[in-house]
Amino acid sequence: MGGGNPGLRFFLGTHQPDWLARTAVPLFVSHRRLAHRKTLPRAAGMWALDSGGFTELSMHGEWRTEPAAYLTAVRRFSDEIGNLAWAAPMDWMCEPWIVQNTGLSVAEHQRRTVANFLHLRHSAPDLPIVPVLQGWELGDYQRCADLYEKAGIDLAAEPVVGLGSVCRRQATGEAALIVAALADRSLKLHGFGFKTLGLRLAGHRLASADSLAWSFEARRKPPLPGHTHKNCANCLPYALAWRTRLLGSLPVWHQPTLDGLPEAA
Ligand SMILES: [Zn+2]
Repeated sequence: MGGGNPGLRFFLGTHQPDWLARTAVPLFVSHRRLAHRKTLPRAAGMWALDSGGFTELSMHGEWRTEPAAYLTAVRRFSDEIGNLAWAAPMDWMCEPWIVQNTGLSVAEHQRRTVANFLHLRHSAPDLPIVPVLQGWELGDYQRCADLYEKAGIDLAAEPVVGLGSVCRRQATGEAALIVAALADRSLKLHGFGFKTLGLRLAGHRLASADSLAWSFEARRKPPLPGHTHKNCANCLPYALAWRTRLLGSLPVWHQPTLDGLPEAA
């Protein structure tokens, strides 16, 4: 295990950028939710930026956002919102239905993911853009890690390495195997879209994770007592209660840090 996990950091996913100012709990917000806003909130806690690639590739079969425009946006969010822990690159997910949608191969998605990261990192070395591993089979992920290494990126030295295309199968042994193999390379992994079952299975090998699952759950349920909205799919008290339940349900060996502030190294 190489020293054990100092504590999983959990980023609560939200569609509501205003929450950045309303809670110090770490948040995960999509570029798509922030891009068109004239004014931005000031973050009360740390947060991470999702590039919105899953939506973009699902809708268009390609990235329609230009890298330069994405970098301009990340810089603005970093300056105006503050406390940006890291930002995802414009990566290419490898779920079979996404690969089918783009008409490309897994290998080509990986090549483009690495090329985009290198471009963003080179163009804006001061911005916290993180490398993301994409693939489908375990061997794919190993090859993707090798692509970064061959390009001169020391993944073990990176503060965050994203793990993509796993969230929809996170409760499987296959997902646990992929996480374990990559954690064995001493990578500080962020599990995109990891929630209860995935965290129970593999959370002890992850450095961080994010999830919006609470919102989908809330959409199908009546609102909390006393809440006047139709459901709690965009409700901060609901989301915070879900987060507390989720984190409290994890085995003690990966109880997360509960504060929203970066730990001292
Ligand atoms: Zn509510």
